[in-house]
Amino acid sequence: MPDPAQPIIQIRNVTKRFGKVAAVDNVSLDILAGEFFVLLGPSGCGKTTLLRMIAGFELPTEGQILIDGQDMAGIPPNKRPVNMVFQSYAVFPHMSVAENVGYGLKIAGVGRAERDERVREALDLIKLQGFEERKPDQMSGGQRQRVALARSLVMRPKVLLLDEPLSALDAKLRAQMQFELSELQDKVGITFVTVTHDQDEALSMASRVAVMNKGEVAQLATPADLYEFPVNRFVADFVGSVNLFEGKLTLDEPDKAAVDCPGVGKVYLNHGVTGPHGADVWIALRPEKIYLHVPGEGKAIRAAGQDAPDGYNLARGRIKGMSYLGDITLYEIKLDDGQMIRVSRPNLSRHDQEHFTWDDRVSMHWRADSPVVLLS
Ligand code: ATP
Repeated sequence: MPDPAQPIIQIRNVTKRFGKVAAVDNVSLDILAGEFFVLLGPSGCGKTTLLRMIAGFELPTEGQILIDGQDMAGIPPNKRPVNMVFQSYAVFPHMSVAENVGYGLKIAGVGRAERDERVREALDLIKLQGFEERKPDQMSGGQRQRVALARSLVMRPKVLLLDEPLSALDAKLRAQMQFELSELQDKVGITFVTVTHDQDEALSMASRVAVMNKGEVAQLATPADLYEFPVNRFVADFVGSVNLFEGKLTLDEPDKAAVDCPGVGKVYLNHGVTGPHGADVWIALRPEKIYLHVPGEGKAIRAAGQDAPDGYNLARGRIKGMSYLGDITLYEIKLDDGQMIRVSRPNLSRHDQEHFTWDDRVSMHWRADSPVVLLS
């Protein structure tokens, strides 16, 4: 078992240029043994290039990659202690499931008896016992994806690299496979490094996520920290839905930091804010952190203990858009000061969605610890 405190992958100042494009731009990060690590970012941010450099399919223009303490310079893909599962779940169509899963072992010269045993173990892991003789075209997309996974797992790599492993699956199957992949990773203890542009996928599976933007790492954190404490506008906006308001930091009253946002008003904060008085900042406020109520109802809600004991913000406006999504309803509200704000409200009872209609006047409040202050 690898030492969990040791980074199994060390990326040191790695840059990859294709002509003038720096697909990966001076990235340094450590991936710990046994982690489920996700590289997340929009199309073209360089995440696949970084994964392919770990695999050895691309070589860094600059910098160094170490796997298990060993410098990978000059080590070809097949000699690295990693295995890659591709986006298109490449399985051989003419081979049975057992032949597909055992193929790598056969090439490596592993004898029949051990091969059969390891194939059986791998099929157990991915819950496809009894499918040994099936051909890939007799299976669903999710099952074929599991076969592709088993083909890699059977080789017992130290690190499994997965390139958008669930992108070919429909939404429902993808959600199920997200659970299954986390469970599997937990069981086998192999380090997983996955690439995805899907933030739900990243948040639901990862132990840590590196959000990439234009070849650089914008933030590396746990899923909860990424969501609750994004460090810049790019991350706040890319991970989850968010209201972003521009404003100036005001620190004139002691212990009463606020951001003066045109179109919104003064947004009070009760957490430590660094930055000089008057600094240009942004605030990020998640739609679900905002309580929505008919004017006058707010006092009762706050009395019921739903607000922060040491401060809250109030705003008023008019509903200008509504979108019913089953579990929640999303509201677009025009604030009296002019800005649009997005608020989500859980549909706790069957009649919740009937509570508000278009053009209703509404009040909102949110805790003073909900807005995140961003300096960029
Ligand atoms: P996607 O989600 O669309 O796959 P990505 O975040 O994985 O995107 P990369 O595939 O790593 O991004 O590409 C990063 C940048 O490098 C892009 O601008 C891309 O056009 C460029 N690039 C990638 N591979 C090559 C190549 N072989 N030759 C030239 N440019 C490349």
